[in-house]
Amino acid sequence: MGLREIENLSGSGVLTTRLDAVLRWGRRNSLWPLPYGTACCAIEFMAVVASPFDLSRFGAEVVRFSPRQSDLLIVSGTIVHKQAVILRRIYAQMAEPKWVIAMGACASAGAFYDNYCTLQGIDHVIPVDIYIPGCPPRPEAVLHAVTELQRRIDAGVPPRSQRTEGSA
Ligand code: SF4
Repeated sequence: MGLREIENLSGSGVLTTRLDAVLRWGRRNSLWPLPYGTACCAIEFMAVVASPFDLSRFGAEVVRFSPRQSDLLIVSGTIVHKQAVILRRIYAQMAEPKWVIAMGACASAGAFYDNYCTLQGIDHVIPVDIYIPGCPPRPEAVLHAVTELQRRIDAGVPPRSQRTEGSA
């Protein structure tokens, strides 16, 4: 919620805004991530929430391991086909609005595990909002992805899960 969305009725001590702007402000500043870690990228995610990088500075430090309490799924690691079924079920258990970040080359595209058992990107089974390149990505890249997601929420861009085919 920016200053332009708040109207100060000068002298009256009353602020007005729109309900949707308040909801977006609340959502962008209180993302609850669910880390779905299967490999080395998950170790790098630990650095993101630790004090040197401190994800809590962006209001997203309340890590939850229950999909029903989370609105941001961060997939970090290699996903094999057997795991894809589990990943889909966990994603389905999250309430809308929900967002997905594919952290690293494996989650984004399978990376160098181009073989019979590895999913070549989680977007084959769930919609992805933001892809983070790297093997593993630096913690700064993850922070950048979270702030980019916040910018989109603030701008009213719907999650990929709510977009229809062909929309931006
Ligand atoms: S992208 Fe690299 S660091 Fe991340 S899970 Fe794959 S192999 Fe490991």
